[in-house]
Amino acid sequence: GGENNEGGYACYSEEMNRNTLDLLRIETGLLHAFEYNELLLYYQPKVDMQTLAITGAEALVRWQHPERGLLLPGEFIPIAEETGLIVQLSDWVLDAVCRQARAWKDAGLPPIRIALNVTAREFTRSLPDRVGAALERHMLSGEWLELEITESMLMHSTDRVISIMEKICGLGITVSLDDFGTGYSSLSYLKRFPINTLKIDRSFTMGIPDDTNDCAIASAIIGIAKQLRHKVIAEGVEDEKQFNFLREAGCNELQGYIFSRPVPAPDFHAMLLEGRKL
Ligand code: C2E
Ligand code: CA
Ligand code: CA
Ligand code: CA
Repeated sequence: GGENNEGGYACYSEEMNRNTLDLLRIETGLLHAFEYNELLLYYQPKVDMQTLAITGAEALVRWQHPERGLLLPGEFIPIAEETGLIVQLSDWVLDAVCRQARAWKDAGLPPIRIALNVTAREFTRSLPDRVGAALERHMLSGEWLELEITESMLMHSTDRVISIMEKICGLGITVSLDDFGTGYSSLSYLKRFPINTLKIDRSFTMGIPDDTNDCAIASAIIGIAKQLRHKVIAEGVEDEKQFNFLREAGCNELQGYIFSRPVPAPDFHAMLLEGRKL
């Protein structure tokens, strides 16, 4: 309606309707996206800071929307989480990553780890079986996969989480702690979990080298990782100053625009073949 605008009220309810409609539209659109293969994965290289060789990649989902173009996960993951479609989306991602890894294996590439983002909601007892089944389906070993989880998953029912993580490790899959430093992990807990890598959040990398706090936090995370014998990777590395600081501080790997943005699978394959350097 909206011909008689009765002040704030009408505006408010129109606003609400619009948001509900947006949500519904994206939910319906996502269902359509599964059916019509509109989802795709981009791959962002992870790079060794000493040798500058590519060590793996993070798979990042994109939605090739028929009207709106290429959408970033920030525009649909939160809605997928709210509506429960995240379960279907994660299954799709897991299968798509394994299919891609299989294709790279068939092309003769040595195993490299492709990292998947796992949300708290899917970090359940059935996760190891789901991942194991996907590996079997594509006849792959666990050395092709890595799971990125966030600190918040380590906070509750510790024994349950440890048992899930141990099963995942048993498959030969590594686990990294994403966005490290932004949550509330208790450092004394950290050593109890079978984690391979700490991932320094981009919010800290961004402030290097000018923000002394960010520098201190990044250095501290690197120190913790060394003490616990974990690997450490920095995300969001964009320039040489950040690169130099992190390398001197002992960071093992980087992920960021300084090397490459996330790219479609064929481009990543080409980078691997070229042995592309910074
Ligand atoms: P994330 O896990 O922290 O992923 C890193 C994000 O930082 C990616 O954004 C990546 O494109 C961006 N990035 C990497 N290097 C740089 C850099 O040097 N500069 C800047 N400015 N940005 C950089 P993206 O692809 O938009 O993904 C955003 C978030 O969406 C991810 O954050 C992750 O939490 C989520 N996400 C992406 N794919 C999936 C997925 O398949 N499943 C789930 N559950 N979540 C996903
Ligand atoms: Ca991630
Ligand atoms: Ca991250
Ligand atoms: Ca982040």
